[in-house]
Amino acid sequence: MQKQKTILITGGAGFIGSHLCRKLLNRGDYVLCVDNFFTGRRQNIVDLLDNRNFEIIRHDVVEPLYVEVDEIYNMACPASPPHYQYNSIKTMKTSVIGVLNMLGLARRTRSKILQASTSEVYGDPEVHPQSESYTGNVNITGPRSCYDESKRAAETMCFDYHRTHGVDIRVVRIFNTYGPNMDINDGRVVSNFIVQALRGEDITVYGDGSQTRSFCYVSDLVRGIVDFMDNPDFTGPMNLGNDGEFTILELAEKVIQLTGSKSKIIHKDLPVDDPTRRRPDLTLARSRINYEPQVKLEDGLKETIAYFKSAIGN
Ligand code: NAD
Ligand code: UDP
Repeated sequence: MQKQKTILITGGAGFIGSHLCRKLLNRGDYVLCVDNFFTGRRQNIVDLLDNRNFEIIRHDVVEPLYVEVDEIYNMACPASPPHYQYNSIKTMKTSVIGVLNMLGLARRTRSKILQASTSEVYGDPEVHPQSESYTGNVNITGPRSCYDESKRAAETMCFDYHRTHGVDIRVVRIFNTYGPNMDINDGRVVSNFIVQALRGEDITVYGDGSQTRSFCYVSDLVRGIVDFMDNPDFTGPMNLGNDGEFTILELAEKVIQLTGSKSKIIHKDLPVDDPTRRRPDLTLARSRINYEPQVKLEDGLKETIAYFKSAIGN
């Protein structure tokens, strides 16, 4: 029989992290969930607390952590623009010092480490769709830079630990992902629109709504992340997401239609440096891990709407 693996998930009480905890527990791993509960919530993992293969540690990844593990998924970092801009210096520390601590842990324990990077490393891209070879168009000093640049530095650190110390790394660039366990106050577009529609509030489209995003349902992403970790000898960086592309206005209209809401669309100022277009080139993921997103936007939105209905008691 294979030895049970101990897997550390930082940011495990967050949106994606909580799905990852479930997926790994379901296949028989021992999951050590680490979170400082900045944007993560006990509610996301409360049903796991009685599981004998699950353990939670309240800990900030900016501080070193001494545990014995076989694999590390480094997911800790606020991901929504209002949350990562709330304390931009802390965001930088979380990404840069956090990954440094986790790489040190991976080196000492000889464990594999997967770093949750982001499509934001491409900034406001001049190349479309974005493939991994594109080095990006990122503002160094703007309000999004604390997130974008620290995630870029975190990738650099992963590759330096790989080259210098032989640490077994996986770097995944995640594109906009949505689904159950997002916080009502998360601030990202899918959760904002659904919560506004369910409450009958105005739907806030920033700018004219012609900017595009590609939305990935969380089950597709988490399957891809785990397959990537399990794939031998491939560091990435590798894009993961869904390559369907929608304007933000189309998303607003879809949410209104699926919720049957009477909400009106209003327009607000476009945030500084808001990327104009975004769509992952998934060629690498398709060839390396046989990745194919399964969940269509409409189906994923229906699941997410059902979750928010119960979360806000609608
Ligand atoms: P989230 O905000 O729901 O989860 C982040 C988790 O990290 C939370 O539980 C939070 O409390 C925890 N955390 C934050 N700072 C920490 C610290 N210093 N120490 C310990 N824990 C800390 O966001 P998410 O959408 O689940 O994102 C998870 C990861 O995936 C992040 O690294 C994010 O950058 C990356 N990502 C997400 C998306 C997306 O669309 N959801 C896209 C690109 C990248
Ligand atoms: N957006 C919007 N209304 C909102 C929240 C976001 O129009 O209430 C827009 C935002 O300006 C961006 C897109 O939706 O163009 C995606 O924003 P999000 O914060 O979800 O993630 P991003 O991809 O920008 O990091």
